[in-house]
Amino acid sequence: MQADVVICGAGIAGVTAAYFLAVKQGITDVLLVDERPPLTLTSDKSTEAYRNWWPGPDGAMVALMNRSIDWLEQLADQSDNRFLLNRRGYVYATANPAQIENFKQQGETAVSQGAGPLRIHGGQPTDPPYQPLHGEGYHDQPNGADLLLDPALMQQHFPYLSPRTTAVLHARRCGWFSGQQLGAYLLEEARAVGVRFVEAKVTGVGVENGRVHQVQLNTSQTINTPIFVNAAGPLVNDVAGLLGLELPIFSELHIKMSFRDHLAMLPREAPLLIWEDAQTLPWSDEEREFLAADPETRWLLDPLPASVHCRPEGGDQILILWPYHAQPVDPVFPLPDDPFFPEVALRGMATMIPGLAAYFERLPPVYIDGGYYTKTVENRPLVGPLPLDGAYLIGALSGFGLMAACAAAELLAGHIAGGQLPAYAPAFVLSRYDDPAYQQQLAAWGGTGQL
Ligand SMILES: Cc1cc2nc3c(=O)[nH]c(=O)nc-3n(C[C@H](O)[C@H](O)[C@H](O)COP(=O)(O)OP(=O)(O)OC[C@H]3O[C@@H](n4cnc5c(N)ncnc54)[C@H](O)[C@@H]3O)c2cc1C
Repeated sequence: MQADVVICGAGIAGVTAAYFLAVKQGITDVLLVDERPPLTLTSDKSTEAYRNWWPGPDGAMVALMNRSIDWLEQLADQSDNRFLLNRRGYVYATANPAQIENFKQQGETAVSQGAGPLRIHGGQPTDPPYQPLHGEGYHDQPNGADLLLDPALMQQHFPYLSPRTTAVLHARRCGWFSGQQLGAYLLEEARAVGVRFVEAKVTGVGVENGRVHQVQLNTSQTINTPIFVNAAGPLVNDVAGLLGLELPIFSELHIKMSFRDHLAMLPREAPLLIWEDAQTLPWSDEEREFLAADPETRWLLDPLPASVHCRPEGGDQILILWPYHAQPVDPVFPLPDDPFFPEVALRGMATMIPGLAAYFERLPPVYIDGGYYTKTVENRPLVGPLPLDGAYLIGALSGFGLMAACAAAELLAGHIAGGQLPAYAPAFVLSRYDDPAYQQQLAAWGGTGQL
């Protein structure tokens, strides 16, 4: 077999890379290889949300996400919104008055980095108007963010939030879409111009005179190719190992649960909702005593981190995520079980949406899935060449792989095809770590924007 480009991995990264190479760059002799059916390891387990809200030390992530969202909007336009892109926003809320200054600072940073203007609503007659969200569609929506400090306005637009809420930051170029449908659409378009898919495991990459020249599969097939792309998601380091490389990445387990909101505690048109305060879970005295008695459960009485989040899904489901135990782990499949997750995540979410406490007594049947955030230390992706001629990488897409896929794949295709790259390209190449100044910057990086 022969191909101009072989891509290992048909998750959203590999599929979108194939699309940008074939449809946008005209490199159509592309072979996608995956040991699983396309989009079935991590890319169909996501919350499917997107945001251009990435305050950080520079504007590279905002620029990448703005570009990616431009593509999402364009692809939605051209496909009659087949993947149901919405623009409901992300709502970050707090009950801690000290967070208000933090929200303002994040907003000002985001403004300076190109995420759009910050509008503050403090209940003054001179305040700008607050434009409520639309449940469907993505056109004619505000950019930037609205910071709601006026209790009456918060109550009017988000009556289901805790009455203790003191501030709501509504980031607007954000929402969600069907990642599976986006991936299926891009794969169809790529296949229509010649991209091929083979179900097999990549077991070796042949290198001659410092150049990639072939790829070996577990089916005993060999593909002659000058270009190999590692898009292996959580297994990206295993595949890098086939080239004798080790990438500066690690993985965290992120679990998601869904259940039927049969009591209709969360309105169907709600945005993505994130509680920004650390919290101690609400237990009864009897439950406390019981949990404290067992070393296995005592941690449930400890303070747990911020960022429990949820959104409505489909006709009557709620998705809840809370990475309260995010630490580096080796990715294993099937995922390890966390028997506490449903109870803990529901209780954590009920701090933000007290109506959910109605499920404490009798938790409806839950469906659990999830996967790994495979990431770099500063939570930025790796997109570009590897230190071996003909080898490339699109990975470390952490918790933003769906939202970043289009811009990351466009960038990768630009590296492969040659030509001018966007200004943010250097922020995402592997070789950034060779720069001592960058290493110094990393030491004082601050927040990584992760949810
Ligand atoms: C719980 C959760 C919530 C998330 N929420 C969001 C969100 O709201 N928004 C967002 O943008 N992102 C989100 N993400 C992140 C997003 O899902 C990932 O960044 C993205 O799916 C990664 O895509 P990928 O193509 O790199 O990896 P994957 O989808 O895992 O694909 C990698 C593929 O490589 C294949 N492969 C690996 N090794 C080999 C080999 N040797 N040979 C052949 N094939 C191989 C695998 O079989 C797999 O199909 C979330 C992730 C999780 C886990």
